[in-house]
Amino acid sequence: MPVPVGTYYRISEDMAGDAKGVARQREDCLNLARLRRWEPVQYEDNDLSAYKPDVVRPDFEQMLKDLDAGIIKGIVVYDLDRFTRQPRELERTIEIYDRHPGLIFASLQGDINLMTSDGRTMARVLVAFANKASADTARRVKRKQKELATKDVKLVHGGRVPFGWLPDGETADPTAKKEINKAHERILAGDKISDIRDDWLARDVIPKSRSGKRFGKKEGLQHSTVTRMLSNPAVAGIKVYRGEVLRDVNGAPVKGAWEALCSPERLEEVTATLVGRSMRHVPSNASYLLSGIARCGKCGSPMRGQYRKDRKGNRIPAYCCHQEKGGCGGVARKAEPVDELIIDLILADEERMKGKAAVSTPAWDGEAQLAKVLAEIAELKQAKDADQISISTVIQFMPVLEAKRDKLLTEQRRALAAQRTAQVISIASRDAFDALPIERQKLRVLQSLQAVIIHPAGKGAGPKFNPDLIEPVWT
Ligand SMILES: [Zn+2]
Repeated sequence: MPVPVGTYYRISEDMAGDAKGVARQREDCLNLARLRRWEPVQYEDNDLSAYKPDVVRPDFEQMLKDLDAGIIKGIVVYDLDRFTRQPRELERTIEIYDRHPGLIFASLQGDINLMTSDGRTMARVLVAFANKASADTARRVKRKQKELATKDVKLVHGGRVPFGWLPDGETADPTAKKEINKAHERILAGDKISDIRDDWLARDVIPKSRSGKRFGKKEGLQHSTVTRMLSNPAVAGIKVYRGEVLRDVNGAPVKGAWEALCSPERLEEVTATLVGRSMRHVPSNASYLLSGIARCGKCGSPMRGQYRKDRKGNRIPAYCCHQEKGGCGGVARKAEPVDELIIDLILADEERMKGKAAVSTPAWDGEAQLAKVLAEIAELKQAKDADQISISTVIQFMPVLEAKRDKLLTEQRRALAAQRTAQVISIASRDAFDALPIERQKLRVLQSLQAVIIHPAGKGAGPKFNPDLIEPVWT
């Protein structure tokens, strides 16, 4: 006897003009039920929203009742969005699935197993998104935007007038305005923030505050302070509230009552340039040969590279165990002699590694499987284009095949990467090693060494580097 399942369709005013009206949803759902040999029991709510909390959808309610009563054994929907956009309704549904294990929840976009926590999480996320995307939310956002756009945002906070304006907090300071515009031009021409900071410090461009200290920290002008001075939307006369640019209902930034120092377009250019640079910026740790390879001899945590002050107050690169990264914080060592020692060891290890190079990792054995899946996908697409099978069939099978394909492609990529790294990087000389990019140098170190343990120097140890405290762990 075929299993009775509820097929549910809904169209609401916000989807008017949507090609997938009730008729279309019905056809697809019935097709899916037929394919799986279920007996459809139809429910339909027309012009009723799934997100407005006060709207009662009679058929939806009836369907849940029937499901709970065991009259139907599951639900088939076009997608979760048509089913509900209300988390409360989803939770009610989940409760029913809890009470009656084995119920079906199928959709044209793929089945959701409401019995597993994974499936529930997915359903909750989907409903939350649909709910958020609803027009109701959009209206609320608009209203809030309108309210914020009229908000009285002042340029002056805490009595301090930002660099660029006169004490009245409204009129531009002509000298400062010129400096900011000049700095903007320099940024666009490729200068760095630090160039501008150095120049400003050298020429005393930034005035001292009443306490005699400069803006920012007492030791001088901070990099971040200069960045803020040059990229703050207030510079272009734009209101900012809690870090967000205020926009009117049309999305245009709202202007404040103070004088702008530059055009919004120019500010946009400068900000885009600075953001683009920070994205390209390689974290300084990447330039340390042994960061992540060096381990603390006290606690075993990976050590990171960073600048440290030596006894004379010079900033020098070092490897440190970090408390904030879960380490003991008890070991630090000047980086350079450690690097030199390790590079010497690696060069001396060249003979041993040549022997290792002969051993290759096994090739990936999933090629045939991948070819088969790709062929199946192509066949399915062809059949659909030739109108041999319905779109609902495609929708039913494609996600499974695509998931298989993606899994195999990931495996393939991993295998290739493993083979590449298995190829020992040959370094004939110190010059050859130095010529390698840092990632390759690190990789080469890792081919010879599993780790480098840096042991604590102990109390009273002099500044002299002791190679005995560096312990290489060979592969
Ligand atoms: Zn440690």
